[in-house]
Amino acid sequence: MFASKEQFKEAFTEKLQTLFGQSLDESSIADKYVALSTLIREIISKRWYRSNQQYSLSKEKQVYYFSMEFLLGRLLGSNLFNLGITEVCRQGLKDLGIELDEVEAVEHDAGLGNGGLGRLAACFLDSMASLQLPGHGTGIRYRHGMFEQKIVDGYQIELPDNWLRDGYVWETRKADRAVTVKFGGTVRLEQQAGRLVAIHENYESVLAVPYDVPVVGANCHTVNTLRLWSAETNHFDFSSFSKGDFLKAVEQKYSLEATSQILYPDDNYPEGKTLRLKQQYFFVSAGLQSIVRRYKRTHGSKPADLARIHKKIAIHINDTHPALAVPELMRILMDEEGLSWDQAWEATRKTISYTNHTILPEALEKWPVEMVKTLLPRMYMIIEELNERFCAALWEKYSGDWERIRAMALVSDGYVHMAHLAVVGSHSVNGVAEVHSNILKNEVLANFNRFYPLRFNNKTNGVTHRRWLAKANPKLAELITEAIGEGWLAQPHELAKLHRYAHDPAFQNRIKFVKQCNKKRLASYIQDKIGLAVDTNSIFDVQAKRIHAYKRQILNALHILDLYNRLKADPGLAIEPRTFIFSGKAATGYYLAKRIIKFINTLAQVINHDPDIDGRIKVVFLENYSVSLAELIIPAADVSEQISTASKEASGTGNMKLMMNGAVTIGTLDGANIEIKDEVGDDNIIIFGLTAEQVLNYYKYGGYNVLDAYHGNSRIKLVVDQLINGFLPVSQDEFDSIHHSLMRTNDEYFVLKDFAGYAAAQAKLNKLYCDQRAWQAMAINNIAFSGRFASDRTVSEYAIGIWKIKPVVIREN
Ligand SMILES: *Cc1c(COP(=O)(O)O)cnc(C)c1O
Repeated sequence: MFASKEQFKEAFTEKLQTLFGQSLDESSIADKYVALSTLIREIISKRWYRSNQQYSLSKEKQVYYFSMEFLLGRLLGSNLFNLGITEVCRQGLKDLGIELDEVEAVEHDAGLGNGGLGRLAACFLDSMASLQLPGHGTGIRYRHGMFEQKIVDGYQIELPDNWLRDGYVWETRKADRAVTVKFGGTVRLEQQAGRLVAIHENYESVLAVPYDVPVVGANCHTVNTLRLWSAETNHFDFSSFSKGDFLKAVEQKYSLEATSQILYPDDNYPEGKTLRLKQQYFFVSAGLQSIVRRYKRTHGSKPADLARIHKKIAIHINDTHPALAVPELMRILMDEEGLSWDQAWEATRKTISYTNHTILPEALEKWPVEMVKTLLPRMYMIIEELNERFCAALWEKYSGDWERIRAMALVSDGYVHMAHLAVVGSHSVNGVAEVHSNILKNEVLANFNRFYPLRFNNKTNGVTHRRWLAKANPKLAELITEAIGEGWLAQPHELAKLHRYAHDPAFQNRIKFVKQCNKKRLASYIQDKIGLAVDTNSIFDVQAKRIHAYKRQILNALHILDLYNRLKADPGLAIEPRTFIFSGKAATGYYLAKRIIKFINTLAQVINHDPDIDGRIKVVFLENYSVSLAELIIPAADVSEQISTASKEASGTGNMKLMMNGAVTIGTLDGANIEIKDEVGDDNIIIFGLTAEQVLNYYKYGGYNVLDAYHGNSRIKLVVDQLINGFLPVSQDEFDSIHHSLMRTNDEYFVLKDFAGYAAAQAKLNKLYCDQRAWQAMAINNIAFSGRFASDRTVSEYAIGIWKIKPVVIREN
């Protein structure tokens, strides 16, 4: 690559000239970004080509990770990091008077996801490539990704995300690999030469064009592929065109291309729109067609070859969004490749595996039968047949138990139940943290677990420690390497060696210094963005994630209001100065979540400039939470707020990123928080609140009355009343919906039930922070025991336990 920074400088300036015919002085920062990225892409391209060649030659099994979302963020920095050339580039650019960070900031985030689920997929891509696993992503190239959030007058405003405006250097359009996806029309079965053939007529076809993005592994020569499908049409309706109906022709073109225009901005709340179902089938069908085509080239194209497809291909579906992979793979194997039903079924089931991401009942996908039938007639026929066969098998075992059979059917009450389709059509079903997997097995999918006892397993989530620690927090990374060597970069469990330094005062001071630098960096961002000065000696307390009732930003906010009330009543109250930092988007149609944003901003307005408070607490809402903003906020956090209602957060991954960066968690026993506690021990985490079991029991048997919590605690009563009594400088009904969500639904998320425990936990946290030696030891222990939450661990568990794939070492030549 670059033997020296001199060599880099030469290559870079030459690239500027050849691309733009410009000298360094004449070029804009955007030009410099394009030149640098293009240069890096060329290096990657050679490795990419070699990886693809060697994958074909080795004929080893490969995995395809199907996900409707990939929340990649920016790629320049992580590509430089994984190629191991960050420093040579940084120094070379510096000589030329250019700051690498400024160049990196030019890149638009690829925000092709909502939050945790999409970011998990991006972390997995990084880990697969870095573990030298032949694993690729399949998704949608949304023309508009996650909306850009602005806060105006305390309210969320949504702006379209135009991330492709200046082009996207990392993608390569592969027009020659395009495939056709068919929608609508009618299907009839016909006997031809002794077998049933499905004839699909009067359909509408969309051209699916792949755009490939390279996925660069760290410390190896592996470059895998993220294939994103774009809906296009080369066909103009010439019949209407020739009649002079130009508009109709254009209209049809746009309606077909609409399929990949937008990402639905709903996290854990699927919108039941036809367009979304269309998106799902679009990328699943395109992805599978292209995989089968490549498989036939490498492994043979006779039906007997295709019956063995599971020996060379694994397909993983990230949540139920790609669950149509089950009937679509059946269709391809039967209708296009001539396999029998039984052969196709065995191959399909052995190929596909499924991850469940949520047990929130409102988030479980189901599609109206009529919609599936109309949009995807052949899919519906196959689903119906699968359902009949499955129900017959259930009948064998549970004859007479209609109730159970109806509860497990793929199709019932006029809906296709996607989780049931995914469970039945795959050989492995996993949850994403131990508690979540247990709830799946014992509650939500208990019937299925009894029927398929070997199918269920757990794979606790992880995040790539390369992006979230090494790249996002380079000063911390340097300090860690100085202390324990650089082995942790490839073997994250080696971080445990830091435990020895937890009580070393000199090391503690250096950890604190790094945190202080990161806090200053965030403080100046806050100053620039909202014109608020925050105290970098205050505790930086972070809750950054999607705004959702179950994540309970409202609990955090009500506690801040309580703290404010107590400070007003008793100015001598001994508390450490604290900056409460919130960030996160609300789904566009989620009224309550939007009011929560307004409530937080109202608290900021009241508290930040109250002279009685004198800056001892401040409230900040940072707009437009995204991967790049997360990379700025997380390294600066002292405290990680992970306070979801127990049982509701399947795993969480923000909790892991914050832990890795030395933040101490205050949280409930939910999702991966439980495993974080197991790793760091009770002394290095602050736990409060109901357990998942208690919550589930309240739902089942009752026994909680919100009025008891409300009347039983004057502090709670006060803050709840303040929502609607005119105390806040907003119209008196502004927060009716929040009040209603607590008092009129019997506090579905146990906010008031957990309030006292949370306030006590906050008091404990405050006290712990006063002892800086003890606090720094906690911070160091959190970093030290975060190795388990690196996605390298997670992905290797998937590779061994589910996908049965092995690393393929890509040779340099
Ligand atoms: C990690 C991440 C999330 C997920 O955060 P949780 O706290 O697990 O909900 C959401 N959005 C972005 C941008 C992230 O990086």
